Amino acid sequence: MNRRSRVAVIHLLALSVVTAAVTADADALNDGERRSVAVSAFTDSFVPRGMRLDLIHSGTADSERYSLDQVREEPFWGGRYGRLTDFPDYGKYRVSVYAMPLGRLIYRYGYSSLFGEWQTTAEAASGRVRAIEEAVRFPMPRRQVRVVIASRKKDGRFEDVYSVTIDPGSREVDRGRRFDGVEVLNLEVNGPPESVVDVLILGDGYTEGESAKFNKDARRFLRVLFQTSPFKEMRQSFAVRAIRAPSAGSGPDEPRRGIFTDTGLSTTFDTFGSARYLTSTRSRDLRDLAALAPYDTLIVMVNTSRYGGGGIFGLYSVFASDNEFDEYIMTHEFGHGFAGLGDEYYSSSVAYSDFYPRGVEPWEPNLTALLKDHPLKWRALVDDSTPIPTPPDRARYGNVVGAFEGAGYSAKGLYRPAMDCKMFSKGNKGFCPVCKAAVEDMIRLLTSPGG
Ligand SMILES: [Zn+2]
Repeated sequence: MNRRSRVAVIHLLALSVVTAAVTADADALNDGERRSVAVSAFTDSFVPRGMRLDLIHSGTADSERYSLDQVREEPFWGGRYGRLTDFPDYGKYRVSVYAMPLGRLIYRYGYSSLFGEWQTTAEAASGRVRAIEEAVRFPMPRRQVRVVIASRKKDGRFEDVYSVTIDPGSREVDRGRRFDGVEVLNLEVNGPPESVVDVLILGDGYTEGESAKFNKDARRFLRVLFQTSPFKEMRQSFAVRAIRAPSAGSGPDEPRRGIFTDTGLSTTFDTFGSARYLTSTRSRDLRDLAALAPYDTLIVMVNTSRYGGGGIFGLYSVFASDNEFDEYIMTHEFGHGFAGLGDEYYSSSVAYSDFYPRGVEPWEPNLTALLKDHPLKWRALVDDSTPIPTPPDRARYGNVVGAFEGAGYSAKGLYRPAMDCKMFSKGNKGFCPVCKAAVEDMIRLLTSPGG
């Protein structure tokens, strides 16, 4: 559906409901009515376009500062249209949007960032100051809003670190477009943005002459995604599109080999000194390109045969297109970027020295520190006969949900839900039941008609 007809549908739905009765009787409504109420709550506060704040996130290992770079209007809003303030406690940062002047919360979400990861590296510990581009997004508000970013401190609690008031009608909102003429490939669109998870693949390091390869790689990702549970079973809840970033050079930067290429998103290996950590730090370029299509979640597909990737919750999932493990990498990284899953492994080397502080429960739905005052978050999936913590006895507990020591880059003190999982080790395997349930919850949240 194009934007104009979608807007028309939303307006029709808005006319058919009484906006005051939003939540009280939501359970008594049928699906169609519930959908109407949700869209109405959305249209009370927002129009179906995006607002983006481009920020510079800077500081040291233990200090941080946000600075506003620019405010942009984006032509699409592919994010949530229902459950607007109902977001799980995921991510290093929490964004809250309040309607002014009364300060009513109208939108909330969580995300993590490259800057937040950098703060846990040895480089940060050495005292260096760094600045990394970052962006926050929410639907285009009808009226003035106050945007507040809270950052999770070492003890796991949120503390407000930045706030700004934005008038959507103001001249400071940049309504210009970039990347005119760049084509959006509709790989599979099963519904309009308000009722599906919009996945947007950005291809980087593909030259003009490699556009056929880009199309082929994107279609392979689509196939792999929908071969994997629970995406397979919930396929009708997705729309997948792809855009090729205009790139003069082929492949990403490989600083260790002295290779530096000119690509649209400046993707690079060796992020934070970790050879296989493949990312882009160019948030503005990335978001300007992504603004060409609606999206809930971004995937950066990098044209390379070297092993590597990265996934940051609410930012993106990055994977290498042509490695022998590419099917594993793309779904593993998507687990991070899309559903906030943590790494369950603890034996590989990573760039972080202080990623999960001791004595603090990780926010990721598949990791736990088994602290006394925290009930096991996946208790509902554990059989009463399974001991917690669970001994690493493959014969007895190889296929059950428990709490196995060794997770989150640490052999001690952190626990994972299963002996093996796509978030634990490489290879052709599925998500464990806890990871799978977290992915399903995220799909339901992003496609929720609200209530
Ligand atoms: Zn898992």
